[in-house]
Amino acid sequence: MGADINRRFRLPLVTSLWTNWGRNQTCAAEAVDHPGDESELVASVKAAAAAGQTVKAVGSGHSFTDIACTYGRRLVLDRYAEIVSVDRQRLQVTVQAGCTIQTLNRKLAELGWAMPNLGDIEYQTISGAVSTATHGTGVRLGGLATQVVGLELVTGDGSVVRASADEEREVFACGRVGLGALGVLSTVTLQCVPAFNLHAVEEPMRLDHVLENLDSYVEDNDHFEFYYVPHTGWTLTKRNNRTDAPVGGMPRWKEVRDKVLFENVAFGVVCRLGRRRPSLVPRLAHLAPSGGRLDYVKPSHRTFVTPRLVHFVEMEYSIPRAALPDALVAVKDFIDRSGMMISFPIEVRFVGPDDIPLSTAYGEQRAYCAVHRYVGEPFEQYFRGVEAIMDPLGGRPHWGKMHYQTAATLAPRYPEWGRFQAVRRRTDPDGRFRNAYLDRVLGLP
Ligand SMILES: Cc1cc2nc3c(=O)[nH]c(=O)nc-3n(C[C@H](O)[C@H](O)[C@H](O)COP(=O)(O)OP(=O)(O)OC[C@H]3O[C@@H](n4cnc5c(N)ncnc54)[C@H](O)[C@@H]3O)c2cc1C
Repeated sequence: MGADINRRFRLPLVTSLWTNWGRNQTCAAEAVDHPGDESELVASVKAAAAAGQTVKAVGSGHSFTDIACTYGRRLVLDRYAEIVSVDRQRLQVTVQAGCTIQTLNRKLAELGWAMPNLGDIEYQTISGAVSTATHGTGVRLGGLATQVVGLELVTGDGSVVRASADEEREVFACGRVGLGALGVLSTVTLQCVPAFNLHAVEEPMRLDHVLENLDSYVEDNDHFEFYYVPHTGWTLTKRNNRTDAPVGGMPRWKEVRDKVLFENVAFGVVCRLGRRRPSLVPRLAHLAPSGGRLDYVKPSHRTFVTPRLVHFVEMEYSIPRAALPDALVAVKDFIDRSGMMISFPIEVRFVGPDDIPLSTAYGEQRAYCAVHRYVGEPFEQYFRGVEAIMDPLGGRPHWGKMHYQTAATLAPRYPEWGRFQAVRRRTDPDGRFRNAYLDRVLGLP
């Protein structure tokens, strides 16, 4: 059924090709709109309804799944991407749906505010990021969607629903991680905090040591994450903690050398070599942990996010926090047994519980395990093998990253699945916001 809806719209009328950042998803829309205000957004949804088209807002295209694909009407929100208002009393900011995290970070820095936590890039739109439950790391903090305190949603018939903890509470509860299935977000209001600096320590450690001491690393740091480097037994760890200390330890030249030249340009060369000569990967992999220790203080948003110039595809699973050590060892053993040569480190993060029905961190502290392959490398054997390890642990795949689940396999992993579907039936009874991905992972509205 999912594929049918895509095929149905592959007509001569097709006007626009779209490709995501990971270069693994392409689709062509019948029509593309660039609404400049809410009334134009509403008009686009109504025009789609009148023409019998499906409609989908696209963010920055940083999802690896076909979640943002449409063969119907695509809404590109590049003309609807500003800050709408600032509430200085509550430290809240309202943004138009196309606003990127980068624009937000700059505005917040001007105000002396910050987001309490972020993922590792800032290219995404706020709407796209919250819609897929984008997260950073830090077990005392939730993902980005937990920072949403209000939203405006254009539903399937073109009505605008304003939702918060005080009004339209069901739409608010579910719409924070809506997968684009409940409607088009028009504005999003976020809770911010006063600006803060982070003291960052990045250093290689043996995997055995990290796993033996995992609880203390996770609990004693505001933001702990590590990258296991396949074929080496080594990890690269990152500990970020709030500090009153002034910025220092990372002059601009060093930032460019480490974060751009080493982590992107040199890493890109290693990946290209590894793709051409996989047998070199284990030797090349030992270059990663040899980088030494970094110790610096920077403003939070400049610590959380880094440039990503090497293109890849990714799958990421959330599992109960306590299951992480055994699961990671199983992934390591699977790689070693399979003979696959994996040049990308495996990223491990930790997030606190939330109450958002389709959040991957719903209900309990979760660990996130992300596997990647360099663009152009085969990924299916690797991703399916890792998915098979995550399945019995109740693994929840990141909505924006590759996976092979369906509504039937996902529903039991989300205790409030039915609550989300009830809101979806209300806000999108005609399936206006369907696409092949949503048909697969949510079923039909
Ligand atoms: C290099 C890289 C690094 C990443 N790092 C992280 C990370 O650290 N943590 C993490 O959790 N994820 C990460 N991701 C994944 C990424 O955050 C998500 O896939 C996110 O959804 C991308 O946002 P986007 O703006 O590109 O949205 P898109 O991928 O364009 O769209 C995602 C979904 O949002 C919907 N959407 C967009 N705008 C609207 C709207 N106005 N109303 C309703 N629905 C809308 C789309 O329809 C689609 O369903 C990373 C991805 C890449 C490529």
